[in-house]
Amino acid sequence: GEIFVSPDIAICPECKKELYDKNDRRYLHPFINCTCCGPRLTILDSMPYDRVRTSMGEFPMCEKCEYEYTHAETRRFDAQPVCCNDCGPEVYLLGRKERGADAIRYTRKVISEGGIVAVKGIGGFHLCCDAAKEETVARLRQRKKRPMKPFAVMMKDLDVVRRECETEPHLEEILDGHQKPIILLEKLSYPFNETKTICDAIAPDNPKVGVMLPYAPVQLLIFTYDDGIEMPEFLVMTSGNTSGAPICRDDQEAEAELSGFCDCMLSHDRKIRIRADDSVMDFYEDKPYMIRRSRGYAPLPFMVSTPYQGQVLAIGGELKNSFCIGVDNRFYPSPYVGDLEDLRTVKALRETVGRLETLLEVEPEIVCCDVHPKYNSVMVAEELGLPVVKVQHHYAHILSCMAENDCAEQVIGVSFDGTGYGTDGTIWGGEILLSDLNGFERAGSVMPFLQIGGDASSKEGWRIAVSLLYGMTGDREKTSEIIEKLELCTKQEANVQFTMADRKINAVMSTSAGRLFDGVSAILGIRRKSTFEGEASMALEFAAEEYQKNRLKNAKKMPEIPTYELLKEGNDRLLLNTGSLIKEILYRRLNGEDSDRLAYIFHQELARQITASCVKIREQSGCNKAALSGGVFQNRLLLELTDHMLKQQGFEVLKHQLVPPNDGGIALGQAVYAMAYLDRNRNK
Ligand code: ZN
Ligand code: ZN
Ligand code: FE
Repeated sequence: GEIFVSPDIAICPECKKELYDKNDRRYLHPFINCTCCGPRLTILDSMPYDRVRTSMGEFPMCEKCEYEYTHAETRRFDAQPVCCNDCGPEVYLLGRKERGADAIRYTRKVISEGGIVAVKGIGGFHLCCDAAKEETVARLRQRKKRPMKPFAVMMKDLDVVRRECETEPHLEEILDGHQKPIILLEKLSYPFNETKTICDAIAPDNPKVGVMLPYAPVQLLIFTYDDGIEMPEFLVMTSGNTSGAPICRDDQEAEAELSGFCDCMLSHDRKIRIRADDSVMDFYEDKPYMIRRSRGYAPLPFMVSTPYQGQVLAIGGELKNSFCIGVDNRFYPSPYVGDLEDLRTVKALRETVGRLETLLEVEPEIVCCDVHPKYNSVMVAEELGLPVVKVQHHYAHILSCMAENDCAEQVIGVSFDGTGYGTDGTIWGGEILLSDLNGFERAGSVMPFLQIGGDASSKEGWRIAVSLLYGMTGDREKTSEIIEKLELCTKQEANVQFTMADRKINAVMSTSAGRLFDGVSAILGIRRKSTFEGEASMALEFAAEEYQKNRLKNAKKMPEIPTYELLKEGNDRLLLNTGSLIKEILYRRLNGEDSDRLAYIFHQELARQITASCVKIREQSGCNKAALSGGVFQNRLLLELTDHMLKQQGFEVLKHQLVPPNDGGIALGQAVYAMAYLDRNRNK
């Protein structure tokens, strides 16, 4: 009786062969698929999975397709989206007359001449252009108002990937597998790849680039067709949306949002029922480390061994939202929805919740959401008319890590993250939470600092830096002097920050680890502000990794470890002595020490502080399991250092793999909490 909804599956090798076989009746057919491959979740209306209950229902099969569909000996037996050049959907250009082959030829021509095209694929539209043309990519950045955030690149085949990036067999297996996520790969240094290379504007100042292979037949046709046009071997493939809005899935949305970004739009008439963005994956110790779990993975369930009974909905976080439906001991995370600050995303969330509930035939008994008083996600949860349980953001991160590792026991949860609403009304984000499925104790945190300037402070790390320095000296003049040396901001800007701090205007106490990274990045002169979430922190990580690489190469000694107290005793909890650490780094910086090296020391010391606090908490609680979660643990260097140091101290360390450590993962934690809550209250 378990309902199984399949994710979408990338085109299989057999279909690929037929696609380019002149004698095959599906030669160059943009919708070729078979029993083993093709769209699933994105075309489903309801279960059971049958053609009439998909968006293929409106396309009657021709005789030949019908035969294949109904005969078990064919490769297309029971393949719901089966169709051919004589039946089924068709591609066409929006606002132009070209259809079918002509539409594809025109699209190719535009791209080859340096144009930007919107292309409708499996789970939504992409914006697509030649990734080798600096000028085109710059134009796309300008139009999308996205100056720095990396673009994903679709490469023609594995050979091209090998020429451009460092790969390994275990990476290639997933890159070319049936899920075809975007994988973050190290760029090969330029002297080593001969002719054309992806241009710098793709992922500026970033040693890595997000790479994927074509997974929809129409994408293959854009690379290779019968028209003799010479096409690039790598294309930018970025989600077709305005920043913050969900990926466009139909012609109306594309015309309204994308027409200003592109020179033509290649659409088709197979409707997308549920959006699916591309999944994004990093690797840690040769295992996948998910950044965004969506197409190809959602809604595959996670199972826990506790025999729960019940049905719950967890609405997820406010940014990078995805929600999760729990049925007994199975938990189905939704595809990526987006940032709920945008009302279009809120609408998409409501819609997708309804759709996935129908598909899974679920009627939730309760709904779980965040404790923040002003989140749109909370509003969506509360309007459902179900009993609501609320879970603190950073605790939800830890719960999601526990759930992914099927752990129901107590853990020392290290939740290092951007910002979230704390149970005391302050901003949390660098928390050590002694947690189990019933609740948590805030056993430790980053040393609180004043976060001044609301939203601006989350993009402008220099504001955090000024606040940290002012908190350190307590003196305007001294702080101004340092600010001038570090070139953090103008005198006037600094004075505004001081005044806001003194009068507590738009200023809240914060323990956010993400903001701390931003502040340190500014102090070290690496990035003063971010144009996208995490930019300054990522730059700090890259600087530290650069140092690490060179140190290994030159067999330099480890940087000597500063002597200071790792921990302080706070009123109600341990405090990581981030204050002394920043002071140390600041003085070394003012003495002219290399900023890459200082970035490394910051990572190393933070990992030591985390480990020391876990050891201390273990002494009191006897708990020997640590769980690492939160967006800051996308930082692979911090992850590695912390993981290794904790293991050295004898800890069992739970980490994420297929659930993102960032806010895209918290719905799973909320869902498991809701299920445990139902369980407790039923047995009362
Ligand atoms: Zn196939
Ligand atoms: Zn047909
Ligand atoms: Fe978070």
